[in-house]
Amino acid sequence: MHEDKPGRPKKHLGQHFLQDPEIISRIIRTADVNKEDVIVEIGPGRGALTFRLAEMASEVIAIEIDHSIVESLNERAASYPNLSIVEADALRFHYHEIGTRFKVVANLPYYISTPILFRLIELSDMVTSMTIMLQKEVAKRVVAAPNSKDYGILSIAVQFYAVPEIAFNISRKSFYPEPKVDSSVLKIVPREKVAVDVRNEGLFWGLIKSAFYYRRKTLLNSLALSGHSKEIIKNVLEFAGIDQNKRPEQVSMEEWGKIADTLMEFMLSQQKRMKF
Ligand code: SAM
Repeated sequence: MHEDKPGRPKKHLGQHFLQDPEIISRIIRTADVNKEDVIVEIGPGRGALTFRLAEMASEVIAIEIDHSIVESLNERAASYPNLSIVEADALRFHYHEIGTRFKVVANLPYYISTPILFRLIELSDMVTSMTIMLQKEVAKRVVAAPNSKDYGILSIAVQFYAVPEIAFNISRKSFYPEPKVDSSVLKIVPREKVAVDVRNEGLFWGLIKSAFYYRRKTLLNSLALSGHSKEIIKNVLEFAGIDQNKRPEQVSMEEWGKIADTLMEFMLSQQKRMKF
């Protein structure tokens, strides 16, 4: 069987290794690592961040999918008793088993940066902060506000659970091999409480998903395709005080909350009427 050498970057695993020591230092400063911290690193690769993190933190758990990389990292890790290299898929890893709160630091593989972000955002009870590098275009979508073309489900999903900001951008030239896109480092701090109190989160996310599926249509038309009658949606928007001609990308997270709560009230009152 053909076995890749650890030295040969594997495109299908998104292996673009950081070369620039100044960028590595900036990422570590952004993560604000100290001696009490447990750090989870996703995709340590050749260890550009890993060993620096191990020198600064209480413990580092580095999750890497590539067996050959794990083998060569393990040789170097022998002199770092607080560093564990775990061979696993970061998308399937059971983070709760770590048993304590941790900070995430990662130069994410591009091909799974969005699903990993969704996975980590769900772990707000475990994660105290995330300092992650991903494609500049994705980072722009994460921090986008309403009324911009980048604003969508990813912006709302992250901002509902956390406060994200772009710490700095990185040119593609800082990596070997050079990727086709530039990157950004995002610092994401989970909120103690979700940004908007909604009565039924399932309904809230369902409405947002179907509205953005038809993001070019008006709010009235896109929501009327979500399984509720146009008549009800019209009344809900009127009641919630939201212009039915807005496009989904012009609606703030608070307004989505209002729409979902008003629809919930309409549905409950309809149910009551049906009982009589
Ligand atoms: N941290 C290193 C650096 O900055 O130079 C490497 C970053 S490289 C962009 C991404 C790393 O993630 C690679 O080492 C790759 O093998 C690893 N990787 C890819 N898919 C993964 C997955 N599903 N779970 C864990 N690691 C993965």
